[in-house]
This record gives sequence, structure tokens and C-alpha cells, in this order.
Amino acid sequence: MHGLMMDDPLIITRMIEHAARYHGSAEIVSRSVEGPIHRYTYADAYGRVKQLGNALQSLGVQLGDRVATFAWNGYRHYELYFAISGVGAVCHAINPRLFAEQLIYIINHAEDRFIFLDLTFVPLLEAIKDHLPKVEGYVIMTDAEHMPETTLPNVHCYEDLLAAEPDQIEWPEFDERTASSMCYTSGTTGNPKGALYSHRSTYLHTMFVVGADVFNINNAAVLFPAAPMFHVYAWGIPYASTMVGAKLVLPGAAYDGASVYELLDQEKVTMAVGVPTIWMMLLDHVKKEGKSFPHLEATGIGGSAVPLSMTETFEDDYDVRVYHAWGMTEMSPVGTTAQFNARVAGLPTEERRGFQKMQGRTVCGVQMKILGEDGQELPRDGVAFGEVAVRGPWIISSYYDNEDASKSQFTEDGWFLTGDVATLDAEGHMQIVDRSKDVIKSGGEWISSIDLENAAVGHPGVMEAAVIGMPHPKWDERPLLVVVKADGADAAKDDIITFLGDKVAKWWLPDDVVFVDELPHTATGKIAKLALREQFKDYTLPTAS
Ligand code: AMP
Repeated sequence: MHGLMMDDPLIITRMIEHAARYHGSAEIVSRSVEGPIHRYTYADAYGRVKQLGNALQSLGVQLGDRVATFAWNGYRHYELYFAISGVGAVCHAINPRLFAEQLIYIINHAEDRFIFLDLTFVPLLEAIKDHLPKVEGYVIMTDAEHMPETTLPNVHCYEDLLAAEPDQIEWPEFDERTASSMCYTSGTTGNPKGALYSHRSTYLHTMFVVGADVFNINNAAVLFPAAPMFHVYAWGIPYASTMVGAKLVLPGAAYDGASVYELLDQEKVTMAVGVPTIWMMLLDHVKKEGKSFPHLEATGIGGSAVPLSMTETFEDDYDVRVYHAWGMTEMSPVGTTAQFNARVAGLPTEERRGFQKMQGRTVCGVQMKILGEDGQELPRDGVAFGEVAVRGPWIISSYYDNEDASKSQFTEDGWFLTGDVATLDAEGHMQIVDRSKDVIKSGGEWISSIDLENAAVGHPGVMEAAVIGMPHPKWDERPLLVVVKADGADAAKDDIITFLGDKVAKWWLPDDVVFVDELPHTATGKIAKLALREQFKDYTLPTAS
């Protein structure tokens, strides 16, 4: 028997309709790519979202079409989130830090019909445009005055497109399971893989994110997503601010400590989220300048493990509460947040800190368990550790058009295997102890150890190479290259680094090269990364001190 409740679909457009109607004067403030601070309201934003929806339909965008963005955290990007999904198309926010080959792969794989881009990314797209046969046109996110000379074909000016359209629209009706947006993750080896979100999953994830046991966001908050809008939709913060009608402050392309501080201070931000590297730069600036945080009440930090020293500095020196959070692209992304339960909240600070080091607490909405190597569930005793498996309405059920990856990362009964290895306790506290993925996370961005190793063994003096992530105070992790020299070869560190220079991105280059007689191997002949990490556990990178 079905319940007799309305089947009212959970559609993203409802969030902004609500914000414009009931919080119409709440502000969205952005540092624009052109320079000045831009300021308008949810009512203004929704008028423009409707114009943009019309513009997309005039371009011929239809239900299910993919429309890509290459953009920083700004108001035009915000408008695209809502307009693209509003017309039933799929907003595909692309991480511009990926390599050219990865970008070409994902644009072609997603079959993006149009690309909207900030001025900053014109040269990037010009360089790869000839490899994108399916892209029908490019829209530069600026006004006529700032339109650049470009070799991009079929170029439009964003503001001109909007100006030609009315600010009323009849949004198409569709099922809540309709795809709304997508993101590719490069967090594992091989080609990037697509997570395809739906209106329903986005709506439910947003309700989770604003919830008191996650980020605890209400209308009085002033939100600052330092997490990029191209990285899992800035962890859902633009949707969360819209759902509750809270002021939203967007940092544009400026993530240095001084620029971030300026906005936090001037706009009286109460809650900011981002990766540890951003907060490291901010804390450094604040310390040097002798400043404080008169308005900031909390930070949500995740993407990489939050060092305890950062939590202590925020909380003890500046009275800013830290919510350690964990998640991934495949999970929309938030899975856990270190919000205290009643028992932990009552503990002395020192004991509570132990829980803040953990990645967070399982909250209703994300089911979680840990699995041993045999696939059997391990006890929730805070001691046993195994791969984290998750299930829930904002977790992918498969990758977009990628059967192989979908097969290998799900259990037979539909749990998603995260690749993170963790302990879980009886109260749902999860602590990551390792990653079964061999990738390195530097400043919130992935470096593939396999790609680096493959490039390194191309050097004639290198017989075998392994790359592991080593702790780094600023970037969280940086690559260390461990090399077994070829017989009689005389490969030197600088020589190998120079050799890698034109094979990988500059920021991928290892911070150090160490020579060993042999590398540990697993039974199947693979390099035993766990054993290697253990071997180098007391090693410190020269760049880390
Ligand atoms: P991404 O899909 O790029 O957002 O990366 C997700 C991965 O980042 C997770 O599977 C973890 O390996 C890592 N990660 C995210 N948050 C944390 C955290 N709080 N502590 C440690 N690792 C994290």
C-alpha cells in the first residue's frame, strides 16, 4: 500500500524560487574575475537565472543535454547552476586544473554541447578547442566591454545573451530523478570518472548539509565556500545558502590569505568551508598581520585530513569552531562531519579533540560500514580497520557511462567502495587510517602516483620507481619518488626531476627523490605501497620543515 502523500518532486529550481520570494533581499557577494566586488540579491539572481534559462533554450539546449562550465566561484557561475538544471539540462562543472588530455577526455565523454567560461580560461580552451568536435559553442562569462579577441569558434557574450531575454520563464516539468549536474573525479587511476547527480539527490544532500548534525546552517549564517565551485559544487554550499536564504560570499579566483581575509572580514562571514591548504594560508596571514576573526564562528574543513594543530589554532587562538568533514565526488560530496554527539560534547576539551581528529560521525542519510579484505563486514569497535563502504540517496549508483569502473567499485548488493580505509566505532565515528587508492592529494588536488612512476621509469638510469604521498604542512601531501637505480647507472636527483619536467605538470614534480636498493612487493608483484609508506614513516620532505 502506498502512502497518500503528494508526490511533489524535489527540484533544484524550488530552492531559488523560495529564496527569491522569501529572502529576496539577502545578498550574494562575489569577487569578480574582472576585478571589482559584485553585489546583488537572491531576487536579482533569480531574475537573471530566468533570463539565462531562456537564453539556454534559445541556444537549443534541451532536456538531458550537458552544458559545461569552466569558472571560478562567482555569481555568473551560481546563475548557471540553477539555470542549466532548471531547463532540465545537466550542469557539468569542470576542474580547470586537470591536464589538457584529461579535459579533452571528459568534455568528449560527457558530450558537452556548450561551454561557459570565465575570461581566465579563454587561452586554456583555445589550446584544446580543435579536439572538441561535439562542442557547438562557447559563452564567455563577461560583458561586451570585456569581451576578448579569441580564436574560439561560435563565441557568445554572457551578458549579451541575457540582455536579449525576458526575466519570466515557464520551467519545464520533469521527474525529480532527472539528472541535474555532474562532476568528474580524477581521484583514482585511469581516465577521470563521472558522477551524475539528480535533482532529488542534490535536494536531499542540501537538506543534509544544512542540518544541525552536519554544518548547522540557517538564515542568519553568512557563508563562504572557499572550496571551488568546480570541485563537487563547492560541497553544496551554494545550494545550502539558497535553501535557507543565507548571505553567500564568493571568493572569485583569489584564494591567497589576504584576499580571503578581506572578504571574511568585510562581509562578516560566519561560516567558511574549504581544504586545509586554504586555511593554512589564511592562518599564516592572520598571524603575520596580528588580525583576528570577529565574525567567523565556524569552518568546515575537509578534502584532506585536518591536522590537529589547525583545529587548535582556530579554536584556542581565534575562537572559531572546526567541523572536520569527509566526503568525495561520488557522494555529492558530504558523508560525515565531526559534529559532537551529546556524550562527546560533554567531554573536556582535550578528549573532544580526539574526536575532531576523526573524519566525522555517521549521520542518518549515509549508511556506512567497513569491510575486511575478504569483503566481510568488520566490527564497529574503533580498532578494526577496513575499506569504507557507503550507501545512500546522494551516493552514485554507478559511474556515468563507465561499466568497468562501475563494476569494480560496487559490492554485489550495491554498496559503493570508497577506497578509504578507516575505523568505525559504536557511535559511528569514522577515522581514516589509510587510502587504498595510491593517489596523492596536494592542496586538495589529486596527483597520480602511477603516472609519475610511469614517467620516472622512462629515465634510462631508473630501474623501478614508486611514488608515495608524504605529509606536508602546507599542501597536506607532496610526492616522494623512491627509485631503484638501473645496474651501473648514475642517476642523480636533479637529473630525474629535470627529466620529468616536460612529462607531468610542474606542481606534480616530486619534492624529493630517494634511492633504495629494492622496493617492497606484494604477492601479486605490485609495489607494496602500504609497506613502503611504513618504511618512510619517519622521513620528512626537505620542503616540509
Ligand atoms: P574528491 O572526490 O576529490 O573530493 O576526493 C575524495 C577523497 O578525498 C576521499 O575519498 C578521501 O580519500 C579524501 N578525503 C576527503 N576528505 C577527507 C578528510 N577529511 N580526511 C582525509 N581524507 C579525506
